[in-house]
Amino acid sequence: MENKQISMIDVLIETHAGLERQGPGSPEMTIKALSFLDKLDDITKVADLGCGTGGQTMVLAQKIAGNIVGVDQLPDFIDIFNGKAKKLNLGERVIGIVGSMENLSFQKEEFDLIWSEGAIDAIGFEKGLTHWNYFLKKSGYVAVTCPSWLTDDRPVEIEKFWVDAGSGLDTIGHNVEAMQKSGYSFVAAFTLPEKCWTDNYFSPRDAAEEAFLQKHPGNKTVEEYIESSKYEIELYTKYKQYYGYVFYIGKKESN
Ligand code: SAH
Repeated sequence: MENKQISMIDVLIETHAGLERQGPGSPEMTIKALSFLDKLDDITKVADLGCGTGGQTMVLAQKIAGNIVGVDQLPDFIDIFNGKAKKLNLGERVIGIVGSMENLSFQKEEFDLIWSEGAIDAIGFEKGLTHWNYFLKKSGYVAVTCPSWLTDDRPVEIEKFWVDAGSGLDTIGHNVEAMQKSGYSFVAAFTLPEKCWTDNYFSPRDAAEEAFLQKHPGNKTVEEYIESSKYEIELYTKYKQYYGYVFYIGKKESN
C-alpha cells in the first residue's frame, strides 16, 4: 500500500476489514430477527448477501444447522469470512464467495432463507427483494436491514446526505408495501437500537481510521475519507430520531 496511490475504496476496505462488522447491527438483533421465523430446524440452506467479513453470518451459523453461503463483491472481505468460518470449525457448511447480489447465479428456489444486513440499500430495497424472491423456496423467509426514515418529515440536510450517498431512504410503511409488492407477506419490522450504530460500528470504525491515518500521515485521500466519515457520525448524532436501521422480515408467498 505504501508505494501506490491510495484510493477511497482502499481506505474503505482497510478500515473495515478488521472490524467485527461493516455496518450497524449486533448479535442480539440478528437473533431477534431469527426469532420471527418458524422452525429453524427445517432450514437447510441460507444465503447471506452483502455478508462482509461475516459478523452476522457466524451468529446465524450458531443458530441454524444448515449450509450458509455468504456473497460479497469484495474479495478481501470474503477471504476474512472464510478464514473466520474455518477458525470456528464451520468451514464445511459456511462458505463465502465473491459475487454480486444484484446478479445472483444460484438455482431457482434454492434457499429456505435469504439474509442481508446493511447491504440492500446499495442496490435498492424493492429491486433487491424482487430479484432475490426467485431464489427462495415457497414459504421461505427473507430478513434484511435497511436504513429507513422513522418519521414522515425530516430536515433537508439529512435528506440530502442520504440522497448524495446513493441511498434515497424510504419510510418503514413504504418499505413494508414494497416488500408485499415484491412477492412476500410481511412478518415483522423493528428498529435497531442506537448502540448498534455507535458502540458496534462508529466507535471501532473511528479507531481503525485513526490507526490508518497514523500509517499514512498527511495523505489527502485518507484525510478526506475520514472527514466524510466524521460528518456521517455528526449527522447521526444530530438527526438520529429521524432515521435508523430497520430489520424487515418477510415470507415468500406461495402463489
Ligand atoms: N453484512 C455485513 C456487511 C455490511 S456492509 C455487516 O452487516 O456487517 C455492506 C456490504 O455489502 C459490503 O461488504 C459490500 O462490499 C457489500 N456489497 C455492496 N454492494 C454489493 C453488491 N452489489 N454485490 C455484492 N456485495 C455488495
